[in-house]
Amino acid sequence: MTDVLIVGAGPTGLTLACDLALRGAAVRIVDRREEPHRESRGKTLRPGGLKVFERFGIADRITALGRSSLVLRKYFDGVHAGDTAVEGLCLIGQWQIEDVLRDRLAGLGVHVEFGARVTGVTQDADAVRAELADGRSVRAGYLAGCDGGRSAVRKLLGIAFQGHGDSEQAMVVGDVRAPGLSRDYWHQWFTSDGGAMLLCPMPGTDTFQLQASPERDAEGGALPPSAEGFRRLFDRHARMPGVRPADPTWLSTWRVNVRRADRMREGRAFLAGDAAHVHPIAGGFGMNTGIEDAAALGRALGGAADLDGYEAERLPVAAHVLADTTARMERVVEAVRTPGRGIEAGLD
Ligand SMILES: Cc1cc2nc3c(=O)[nH]c(=O)nc-3n(C[C@H](O)[C@H](O)[C@H](O)COP(=O)(O)OP(=O)(O)OC[C@H]3O[C@@H](n4cnc5c(N)ncnc54)[C@H](O)[C@@H]3O)c2cc1C
Repeated sequence: MTDVLIVGAGPTGLTLACDLALRGAAVRIVDRREEPHRESRGKTLRPGGLKVFERFGIADRITALGRSSLVLRKYFDGVHAGDTAVEGLCLIGQWQIEDVLRDRLAGLGVHVEFGARVTGVTQDADAVRAELADGRSVRAGYLAGCDGGRSAVRKLLGIAFQGHGDSEQAMVVGDVRAPGLSRDYWHQWFTSDGGAMLLCPMPGTDTFQLQASPERDAEGGALPPSAEGFRRLFDRHARMPGVRPADPTWLSTWRVNVRRADRMREGRAFLAGDAAHVHPIAGGFGMNTGIEDAAALGRALGGAADLDGYEAERLPVAAHVLADTTARMERVVEAVRTPGRGIEAGLD
């Protein structure tokens, strides 16, 4: 029988799978996606996350793919207003981290089972059974729900996700090319009307991660992201004739959600990563907290720590991260009203 079934092959699930496979556990990892993605998403790896990867022997590969220093270039109403150098973080696309983790996992004989969506979870005293959308089922000693903020596992276990969230998107996001724009800077345009556009050069690609205040319709409602919308937003904020965002390979939205699970364990099933906590992106803690959850859960399920200790250790961390990132986001929102300031206000 499988020792642990991991639901979700994002950074959290992949980290847990590597950790447990290195401890000799029989793991399976399933994901509803049909194939890996190439979205930049979480792009800042912090020292805590990197330390976990050192143990897996992949930290050097990840730092070689990423970038350890970067200059944030701030503009206000289209005019260059200041630069800030940032050191000590690893800038890298989330998909690249997932690629390296999948590769490490394959070296341990474990392969992600794509196209496998979990729709049901039941358990008894000895095992957990997960039902898949295609009619199959998997029986395992334990189950880890690493299936992101909308976690099906969390809902199936009846665990509440407490907190608050906005119904409307705060940002449009995506990956775009921007021929003619310098790749030496993380460009951050802020305008006196409160709008913003950020373009961050993603290492190992010719794309930038785009984050911007959404366009609005006549009633003030936020419009969905589009290639044409990205161009209009760029013209409004950057005012840089000759440069245009092009060829989006990822278009998405981000909304403010500050929530955490009221428990991280239900019998033989556990939650980790975004499935257990979501919060503002200021400071770049989402993916990192998930990686550290996974390392703690790996210790517990791998027999190196007490099973009850997992929730006791990580639930207070989740509560702290929610409060801390909320405060960081408030600092950023306040700071960018001043020409020359930018998202570094959330990194301190
Ligand atoms: C624009 C943006 C910028 C960000 N910046 C940062 C940053 O700088 N630093 C940082 O640390 N974080 C950042 N984040 C947050 C980060 O992306 C998330 O915290 C991270 O993806 C969480 O990882 P996870 O593995 O817990 O969940 P996810 O990455 O969401 O992975 C969950 C996986 O579960 C799968 N799944 C879902 N439901 C099922 C099911 N029923 N059955 C099977 N599989 C299922 C999904 O397909 C997915 O692959 C950012 C996010 C965005 C959008």
